[in-house]
Amino acid sequence: MSTETDAASRLLMFPTLIPGESYYSLLARYHRLSGNRADIYTFQQLFGAKADLRAAVTLPYRIRLIDEWLPEECHMPSGLVVRECTALSYLRLSGLFTEAAYDRIQQPESLRGQNQRFDMIRALQRNTQQLRFCPDCIWEDFVEYGEPCWHLVHQIDGVKYCPIHGTRLVDSPWPNKAKLNGFYPAPDYYTAHSLALSARSCMPPDPFEKPYLELARIIDWLLKNADRFSEGKLIQLYEQELGTLNLDTLLRQLTSSGTRFLTDLYGREVLQLTVSLYEHGMKSQPPLVHALMIMSLGGIPWISRYG
Ligand SMILES: [Zn+2]
Repeated sequence: MSTETDAASRLLMFPTLIPGESYYSLLARYHRLSGNRADIYTFQQLFGAKADLRAAVTLPYRIRLIDEWLPEECHMPSGLVVRECTALSYLRLSGLFTEAAYDRIQQPESLRGQNQRFDMIRALQRNTQQLRFCPDCIWEDFVEYGEPCWHLVHQIDGVKYCPIHGTRLVDSPWPNKAKLNGFYPAPDYYTAHSLALSARSCMPPDPFEKPYLELARIIDWLLKNADRFSEGKLIQLYEQELGTLNLDTLLRQLTSSGTRFLTDLYGREVLQLTVSLYEHGMKSQPPLVHALMIMSLGGIPWISRYG
């Protein structure tokens, strides 16, 4: 019998999906719904032991367990949750990881699996530790679905503004330690509003609001449409537009929205990006580099012509 089956059991209740919700958010809402008094009981019920919740924010970490937790009548198979609530197809735009590495996201705890999972998380959430939210989405979810959630797109590297409302995202205080090791449901409207007010009071004006918002919209589009593309197909499209892809061409193109914007986005890692482009070109780059490239070539109107 597999470990997954050992860990899993049918659940008596489970939240229904809110559009745009992250898989972690579903788990956190389940924790609240369950009435469990401590996280450990929820870990036990869902995974049989402690599990890597940070991976569940963007990745389909051990997601096949959903098919054990929920009967078919719930119409929420794991495949649907992978598509709707994780950034798997967006990550797969990058040739960084092998098929075996993706399979390992399903495995409980092997050292190799852990390292690759960490690299995948970094490719999607480079510097993000805190869960982020848009106060307008919190309000709309509350009005429409009776409960707020953590949105997947808000947690992705490069997304600083809500692609729907254009509102600057707010870092929540969760997790309060470096590691996401508990179930934190998204804040209610009043908590979100007061967190947003105090965050805004110390936010300097952002000279890069326009390019960040455009980038957020492209990433949001890719989260929904990336399965129509592959790394090879994207590189072919870049070559079609730009000719040979050497370091000069790539840097010229990626900085066409402004060198200062790229520096703001990458901080000290801008040099690391240059070295990586020199060594690999557009092959095996994190998906954010593709989002930037698409932005420089004309954004959603350009890429949607091809997929
Ligand atoms: Zn929003």
